[in-house]
Amino acid sequence: PPSIVWFRDDLRVDDNPALAKAASSGTPVVAFYVLDQKADRPLGGASLWWLHHALAALQTSLEPLGVSLILRAGDATDLVPTLVSETGAKAVYWNRRYTASGIAQDTEIKATLKRNGIEAESFNAHLLHEPWTVQTGSGGPYRVFTPFSRAARAAGTPRQPTPAPEMIVQWSGKANSLELDDLNLLPKKPDWAAGFRDMWRPGPEGARANLASFITDKLSGYPDDRNVPGIEATTRLSAHLRFGEISPREVWHAAEIADAPRDSIFKFHQELLWREFSYHLLFHYPDLGSANHQSKFDDFPWADHTTGEGAERLRAWQHGQTGYPIVDAGMRELWHTGWMHNRVRMIVGSFLVKHLLTDWRVGEAWFWDTLVDADPANNTASWQWIAGSGADAAPYFRIFNPVLQGEKFDGDGTYTRRWVPEVAKLPKKYLHKPWEAPINVLRDAGMTLGSTYPHPIVDHKTARDRALQAFKSLSETP
Ligand code: FAD
Repeated sequence: PPSIVWFRDDLRVDDNPALAKAASSGTPVVAFYVLDQKADRPLGGASLWWLHHALAALQTSLEPLGVSLILRAGDATDLVPTLVSETGAKAVYWNRRYTASGIAQDTEIKATLKRNGIEAESFNAHLLHEPWTVQTGSGGPYRVFTPFSRAARAAGTPRQPTPAPEMIVQWSGKANSLELDDLNLLPKKPDWAAGFRDMWRPGPEGARANLASFITDKLSGYPDDRNVPGIEATTRLSAHLRFGEISPREVWHAAEIADAPRDSIFKFHQELLWREFSYHLLFHYPDLGSANHQSKFDDFPWADHTTGEGAERLRAWQHGQTGYPIVDAGMRELWHTGWMHNRVRMIVGSFLVKHLLTDWRVGEAWFWDTLVDADPANNTASWQWIAGSGADAAPYFRIFNPVLQGEKFDGDGTYTRRWVPEVAKLPKKYLHKPWEAPINVLRDAGMTLGSTYPHPIVDHKTARDRALQAFKSLSETP
């Protein structure tokens, strides 16, 4: 009888413990993927686009191993046991996920399988350290990053990644499978993914190419350059990691042995540990994505974003029409490519939550739909961090000034000019504050504020005062 490997967020054959276990058991292997848009939070549009290509790449890497991927759509709670009976499998292996609803579904499936005498075993493929293995001195979870990162490092070097199985016993049986196209993951009309196709190569090969060029060309300068959105200075591995096309252990070790200054390697490892920290928080605080981690934010006087001016402002933010060039650049990069530079994510996030007084969950949901790397742990933890409501968060009263942020991190304007062509001809001095430019400067740059490019939708100082006032009302609440 065969063993089933149920693929989820681990769309790779290398360093895949569930697949390795099935291969080493000497039984034939059946590879299975279920598109289940109900059990867990449904994937957004950009993630579905990525998933289509990631599944195609997985099919390609399973082929030489003689394994075909069975695709189905629906409730995995039923579909996994159904495939077990159809194939006569005696074991199901999978790699763990960490959302509350994912864990609940896995627990239920495991119980059903075991009741029926089927072996069910799960593994860790997604993280360097399981969230419950990094603990404070008193045995609880961490809520502050720096001590978490120290404890994670002290927990030992992540184990070396293992290569794909060399030999897999082929299964001679047959089971129905949908065609990948039947899953309908790609956008049809309109096809908004042209910019995605230019930028991304989903799948392990694309991931490895990114990792390799990062290690040789970018790692040394990473500590400084990573903050500059006009330079391509980071790995762009986030979506590959999200879908498990590359193992975090492979990424960690590639940096560890790189020919680069020790502090660059340390800094890069810290970012991988931020990802671990997000998962640590999500696992220990399962409602991280829906509830304020600091409950005092439950009383925050968020503006109404559903009607009138609030709705208009939200729309302006989503579409990159706020009148603040760095904010608009970020939102347009996101729309066009499904990704945004980390520094700019912080700037646009802060702008939405503080300048527009919009509940962080609204921004989180927009990112969830539009990011190719939309991640249940990283997205929610980062939005709570930006909002000030999270564990170890940026304090609410620290409000990014979008003009100064633009001048500091995109001083020469490479990034802003690229994404906001309406302001591209402005001299550096006014690029991040076109409203201060004299009329002749605007004219020379081919601009008319309010016509070719919007006036700022809120005045920085007024918005800042309003946000501080709102926060103060909270601190004064008994
Ligand atoms: P690199 O700098 O090359 O870092 C390598 C890897 O480390 C990343 O791929 C990522 O897995 C991890 N990493 C880096 N920075 C962070 C960070 N600050 N927090 C957690 N992990 C990090 N990241 C996501 O993967 N998915 C999200 O949905 C997501 N939403 C975000 C929302 C907001 C408001 C903010 C401020 C940040 C968010 N991030 C998210 C974190 C970060 O912006 C991205 O991981 C990073 O920009 C991805 O680019 P990269 O792969 O080139 O990163």
